[in-house]
Amino acid sequence: MGADGAEQRPLERIGILGAGTMGAGIAQIAIETGIDAIVHDPIAGAYERAQQRIAGFLARKVEKGQLDAAAAASALDRLAPASTFEELVASDLVVEAIPEELELKRDAFRRLDAAAEPETILATNTSSLSVADIAAAAARPQRVVGMHFFNPVPLMALVEVIAGPGTTPAVAQTTLAAARRLGKTPVLGADTPGFIVNRVARPFYLEAMRILGDGLAGIEEIDAAMRAVGFRMGPFELVDTIGADVNLAVSGSIYHAFAQDPRYRPHPVQATVVAAGRLGRKSGAGFYEYEADGARGEPWAGLPPPGGGAQLSGEQVSGRILAALVNEAASAVEGRVAEPEAVDTAMRLGANYPAGPLEWGERIGLSGIVATLDALERESSDGRYRVMPLLRSLAEEGGSFFAPRA
Ligand code: NAD
Repeated sequence: MGADGAEQRPLERIGILGAGTMGAGIAQIAIETGIDAIVHDPIAGAYERAQQRIAGFLARKVEKGQLDAAAAASALDRLAPASTFEELVASDLVVEAIPEELELKRDAFRRLDAAAEPETILATNTSSLSVADIAAAAARPQRVVGMHFFNPVPLMALVEVIAGPGTTPAVAQTTLAAARRLGKTPVLGADTPGFIVNRVARPFYLEAMRILGDGLAGIEEIDAAMRAVGFRMGPFELVDTIGADVNLAVSGSIYHAFAQDPRYRPHPVQATVVAAGRLGRKSGAGFYEYEADGARGEPWAGLPPPGGGAQLSGEQVSGRILAALVNEAASAVEGRVAEPEAVDTAMRLGANYPAGPLEWGERIGLSGIVATLDALERESSDGRYRVMPLLRSLAEEGGSFFAPRA
């Protein structure tokens, strides 16, 4: 590796701090791709639980004929615990996957930085904190980078590599190479709230909730409209799967990080569901009721039913949600969060979208997207639907997000 970029050794050993859901997933993909994984977790029994979980996953792959028994055994031989930070950091790359608390992470990076050789890259798997805030605790913030894996790590192809303001380009490039070596498709993103996926996905939920809250369509109709255009799940099914509390917290943190931009304002419908303790599948009820066997039941009767006025058709529902997604993707490009190709790849692989929003928008026609947003903005007039200048100018010129820009 080489945080200074002078030498790029191949990734042979990865240190992982935190043996929870994400740490275990990262360790699993490392050992399956022939890389040694050394894991530190201060909580008694945490490493052993992760080891058992990984062994269980590998055994199931062997049963299904996806992996041979000898390969599974040698993969498990590559997994080891580190009892100290010194052992952990004797690695080419250290990935931190401890709880999402800034002070906890800052303390970890201060200690990792003090213990590690200067060429070791230190990555954080944070999904919502600023890489810069975490890196500032290290004496050498230039070797700190975001490496945002998605859950479940073995199944999700995307890694967002997040360059903080101090991260050197060589560190970002080496981290992209490390993600590829781990079998993932990395995209490079800037250190901005929600990075790429969590930010660009906001309108999928928020626009659906506005439509519901305004009584223009029901929960099932909105979900069906989005499945009809190729999404695996509609917004409400997806919120119930993720957890309404988790989804509300992400919306809230992005809203505050963007200085209460109305585009990201959490919707009262979501707060109502959370306040009722209906957190989704994990609590047995959310926007939908669930049977004991997990089968989806009726939509919750506790929300106001669709109003008596004009109802939106499925096409109008998906048209509104897609227009808002295209606008948000354009805002990420315009704000230099990521290149257009990276935004589309991130949404396909990190959120399982059937197509990238920018490519999709061009297929629909950017002028139609702008017309939809302008009409909504005239009604709401609070800036929620304001069209990104880049989107408007491309629509007017008949241009493409993917053509080289100045
Ligand atoms: P988790 O609670 O499953 O695991 C955290 C682990 O860290 C636990 O094993 C715990 O014992 C250990 N730990 C606690 N304090 C520690 C410390 N001071 N030093 C070392 N280890 C410590 O959490 P998770 O879901 O794996 O999330 C970890 C990180 O990954 C968070 O930053 C989270 O935001 C991020 N993330 C999570 C997901 C997800 O869907 N779970 C997805 C992407 C990113």
